[in-house]
Amino acid sequence: MTEPTVPSPVRFAAVAPRDLPDPRPGVSGVEPIELAGLLAAMGEPAFRARQLGDAVWRSEAASWDAVTTLGLPLRAGLAERLRFDTLTDTDLRVGDDDATEKALHRLSDGRLVESVLMHYPARGERRERNTLCISSQAGCAVGCPFCATGELGFERDLDVAEIVDQVRHARRRLVSRGRHLTNLVFMGMGEPLLNLEAVIEAARVLTDADRFGLGARHLTISTSGVVPGIERLAALSPQWTLAVSLHAARDALRDLLVPLNRRWPVRAVVAAAAGYAAATGRRVSYEYVMIDGLNDTLTDADALARLLAGTGSHVNCIPMNPVAHTPWQASPPERMEAFAGRLRAVGIGVTIRRNRGQEVGAACGQLAAEKSAEPTGVAVARRRERLVAASAAALAGERSQEPAPPGLPAGSSRPVIARSAPRTGAPRTAEARATAPRANAPRTAARPDRRPAAGRQPPRPPRRGSR
Ligand code: SAH
Ligand code: SF4
Repeated sequence: MTEPTVPSPVRFAAVAPRDLPDPRPGVSGVEPIELAGLLAAMGEPAFRARQLGDAVWRSEAASWDAVTTLGLPLRAGLAERLRFDTLTDTDLRVGDDDATEKALHRLSDGRLVESVLMHYPARGERRERNTLCISSQAGCAVGCPFCATGELGFERDLDVAEIVDQVRHARRRLVSRGRHLTNLVFMGMGEPLLNLEAVIEAARVLTDADRFGLGARHLTISTSGVVPGIERLAALSPQWTLAVSLHAARDALRDLLVPLNRRWPVRAVVAAAAGYAAATGRRVSYEYVMIDGLNDTLTDADALARLLAGTGSHVNCIPMNPVAHTPWQASPPERMEAFAGRLRAVGIGVTIRRNRGQEVGAACGQLAAEKSAEPTGVAVARRRERLVAASAAALAGERSQEPAPPGLPAGSSRPVIARSAPRTGAPRTAEARATAPRANAPRTAARPDRRPAAGRQPPRPPRRGSR
């Protein structure tokens, strides 16, 4: 790690108020053909569609006001129907000697999501890389206990434009420095495969040569193991990379670390990922967050080696980024080396990743959690006690008796039904979408053990009994 830089202060109010969502669709989520239809209906010549596309995807404009290629009356007409940017405000924190930039975005209903931009300078033969990590949901229902987003609970799915606009935002920042985006990873807040239709659509928009134009192989979708979602992706057979957050090869431990393992056990997840690799010809990578004394022993490494033997996949070992409210720490470097060595010995590729952006709260969901209401001291102490007890039971090989997180799609082989589009009620044409109300209502509750701060809504009922 480089020396920490002083993070810039966060300008947002301590707690995001829940505003009424803006009913106008974001322009980046509207199909070009629909935009062309809208412009035609507004009496504009055909070439305006190209000018609009250039403004959205290739200019540095951040608002309709800055789209000077279009006349004022047209801009005003478009602004009545569509939002140029669905991120109403963004606050930046810079760390790792300017190599990591964390953005906290406010959505039109006041909810907060994060994206993280990481710069990797050119080294030897290797070209410079600029990787953006984006969010697919506000909060997350899966509830992995080491994850700050899991701690927040589920708030709502992002729509296509809210996902894509994180990328447009980063692109503008990069362009101003003479850089461009090289890689995109769905590893921010939320479980992408629980917002699958919006994520697939956003990935299409971002890899469309006429729109954002990122190479499909430079896009990675990370999942905690939603088996029907992996199967659905495999059926589409895209060239996107699939990353699976494994964190444990043994079911008892994974029940604790990734609660949806109680629905889709680790072998089913690895089998589905192998199906993705077979359908796409793309190597799957596995993420393994290493927690001191919990999942980092040589027994764990051997179990992982047996699980992944012959799959041709790659493992990324990541030291746990410390987050509040857990009793756990990152594994020491020598233990990570020993773990990785055991996998390499049987021919499994391993990379030990360093953790970027700790001083800017770059663990998934950490900044948004900071802005959320503080859990009470008593709640934190109870939670730690519960995790210590649950860790001991998991290490003794006991499967969790807790239910799987609520709201997961049914079955292991049934395709995931579109949730995002119908739930947001997105109509098919730009004109209709521009006038339709949005229905991004919260699906499950905020954490009950958080102390409400001034101006915040009272806590809602518990998300699930165990936490
Ligand atoms: N929900 C998806 C994608 C978002 S999480 C998933 O779980 O794969 C992206 C990655 O961040 C996951 O691999 C997750 O395990 C990791 N992560 C979450 N909290 C972390 C922490 N405290 N330290 C290190 N990695 C963390
Ligand atoms: Fe959700 Fe991923 Fe965090 Fe688990 S690690 S709570 S799946 S965002």
